[in-house]
Amino acid sequence: MAPTTIDLRSDTVTRPTPAMREAMMAAPLGDDVLGDEPTVQALEAKVAALLGKDAALFVPSGTMANQLAIRAVCEHGDEIVAHRDSHIIQYETGAPAALSGCMIASLEGPGGLFEPSQVRAAIRPKDQHAPVSRMLVLENTHNKGGGTVWPVERLSAVAAEGRACGLHVHIDGARLMNACVAAGVAPTAFTSSVDSVSLCFSKGLGAPVGSALAGSTALIQRARRFRKMFGGAMRQSGILAAAAIHALDHHVARLADDHANARRLAHLVAGIPGISLEGAPDAIPTNMVFFTVAPALGSSQEFCARLARHGVAAIGMGTSRVRMVTHLDVTAADIDRAGAAIAAAARGA
Ligand SMILES: *Cc1c(COP(=O)(O)O)cnc(C)c1O
Repeated sequence: MAPTTIDLRSDTVTRPTPAMREAMMAAPLGDDVLGDEPTVQALEAKVAALLGKDAALFVPSGTMANQLAIRAVCEHGDEIVAHRDSHIIQYETGAPAALSGCMIASLEGPGGLFEPSQVRAAIRPKDQHAPVSRMLVLENTHNKGGGTVWPVERLSAVAAEGRACGLHVHIDGARLMNACVAAGVAPTAFTSSVDSVSLCFSKGLGAPVGSALAGSTALIQRARRFRKMFGGAMRQSGILAAAAIHALDHHVARLADDHANARRLAHLVAGIPGISLEGAPDAIPTNMVFFTVAPALGSSQEFCARLARHGVAAIGMGTSRVRMVTHLDVTAADIDRAGAAIAAAARGA
């Protein structure tokens, strides 16, 4: 890709800033598997406090954080309740089935959200014929749903219903800090009503690698064992944890800039013939902009290929849907250039 490309494929594309690289260079290191990695331990304590849980575990990816929660909670044959568009169903390579032997009961609802009554309705009878309903997974922000933020009250109500039904409630919080900044609340507003939370440092927070799982001491002990089994236990991983600590200290409040840039992009895209923005420009919830391209403009892949020649990278999701994600390596001026490029690509240029 040309160095001048404005990369809106994902907020995972961010490169560590010079200050983050310095923090990584300066980090005291040990061996985390042998239990003496000071920087990893500092990160895990920081994340546990941030999310209001007993303990946390540093892991290589958000997928591993979610899958460790599932593996630590579920037995083979158990059922998980989750939205049909959730990351654990759509983008984790069937891992709940492959790694934990679980089925998933999928729910529908606008933006990746659903209601307490839907959770209740998905619970299996306690009968020898039925799988055991074991776990509920909520995604906040919801990626495929449009970067949606769960209203705090609604998430609490759904989580309470899940717990009343005997489920372990997990938040896939890959972009939980985006949700917090957008809603103007502390993470505990979302996490106090659930049992476990995953959080990615490698998305909008701008760290190169890494995620965390937080929960009770017992859950994290089990997850630590399965992290070893899944091959995710790391050694001098403090060099990565240092980047995550730096991200939490310096890159949370600025997520508001990404959200403003997403709205700016949405305003530019909204008026372009042949392009239908999902939602009103001022209602873009976080850092993701989704639109569909008219059939005359080709498939979303063809449209993105044309766009790439104008120096903008985006991902086609489905036949006509395009996703663009803002992040800390994209400025408002880049957004204006991207808007012009999208208009040109929509003219067939
Ligand atoms: C990115 C993401 C993950 C984890 O992805 P990894 O690439 O494995 O780090 C999990 N859930 C959601 C909603 C995501 O967007």
